[in-house]
Amino acid sequence: LYPLAIRIAQKIPYSTVKAVFGFPPSTNIGLVFYTALQTAPSFYPSWAEGRSVPCLIPCGIDQDPHFRVTRDIAEGLGYPKPALLHSRMVPGLLGEGAMSTTGHRDDNVLFLNDPIPAVRRKIRHAFTGGRATVEEQRREGAIPEVCSIWALWRTRFAETDAEFRTLTENCRSGALLCGDCKSALLPKIEAFYERQHAARESVREWAESRIITEPPRPI
Ligand code: SF4
Repeated sequence: LYPLAIRIAQKIPYSTVKAVFGFPPSTNIGLVFYTALQTAPSFYPSWAEGRSVPCLIPCGIDQDPHFRVTRDIAEGLGYPKPALLHSRMVPGLLGEGAMSTTGHRDDNVLFLNDPIPAVRRKIRHAFTGGRATVEEQRREGAIPEVCSIWALWRTRFAETDAEFRTLTENCRSGALLCGDCKSALLPKIEAFYERQHAARESVREWAESRIITEPPRPI
């Protein structure tokens, strides 16, 4: 990507990245260049195929400024503007700060190609906002805001706002225990993975035929 990133960098004035990211004078030059490298995949298909190929970029909201800058310079480079699909962030399954001390790195995240037994294991071991004992949780309630399972409910697995509100209230009041909460979530996640795996297989041949294997044309 580096030759393409260089070409992108030539179109982005320093004043633009300074204004967008609020860089102070102490900012290192790597950060100043970063937008060019981060957004190079937006144009890679056009560059590699030598024709105009629109690109859809799924990204977290924190990446949005890079791609907005990129959209401004796309036409100057002769490429279509990238479109963005903003993804909602969820915390890691092992909880804040747990990565350095516990668990395997892969256990912190659900991958879309995880087999269902691995998904079950990860959910069962996921960090929650629950209390140390059942009695304490019944008495004090749990803390949903720090819970990776609550984040999954919020993201897509609660089917209505009312269902999510009830779950949150029951979590806070201690009416819901973490084991039961995970048990209720698992069938929904498994159904999602079954649909996802089937959809993935149905487009595998087409997707593999679209993988770019030729080296890009020289600039
Ligand atoms: S009850 Fe559910 S949402 Fe609440 S802390 Fe436990 S696992 Fe998380």
